[in-house]
Amino acid sequence: MQNCSVKPIALRVTRSEIVARGLALSCPNCGAHTLYRKGHYFQLERACSACGMRWDKDEASFLGSVVLNYGITVFGVILPWIVITSLVGISHVGIVAGAIAIGVIVPILLYRPSKSWWLMCYHLFFPDHLPENWSAERRSAELPPDE
Ligand SMILES: [Zn+2]
Repeated sequence: MQNCSVKPIALRVTRSEIVARGLALSCPNCGAHTLYRKGHYFQLERACSACGMRWDKDEASFLGSVVLNYGITVFGVILPWIVITSLVGISHVGIVAGAIAIGVIVPILLYRPSKSWWLMCYHLFFPDHLPENWSAERRSAELPPDE
């Protein structure tokens, strides 16, 4: 009989740490606050300056963060805005003007968190992709992130 069991990985960075780091907009690997360039709201660093982990694995790495941002804006803010203001009796012009304002302001406010939350979601499903969770053999065999 063949043994098909998969040996569980002993995670050095646990899923609860990944969530805490994602909510704190920190590097999922080491927890340092290095996601964004200092003094710039929209410029994401290519890699963590503390541990060297790269965040953009390919061109579409953060496409999910756009979907997350859009979904929260539309279904979490604009839709409730329309329902609540319709029930309260605000004019249609006021409802539309508010929805447009929300549609501009909320995605800007969610820009940074949505990228961090997307990294968090990715690493919740693939915690073994974090360099801290690699085996010692794999860590020593990997090339530096900028290669
Ligand atoms: Zn790091």
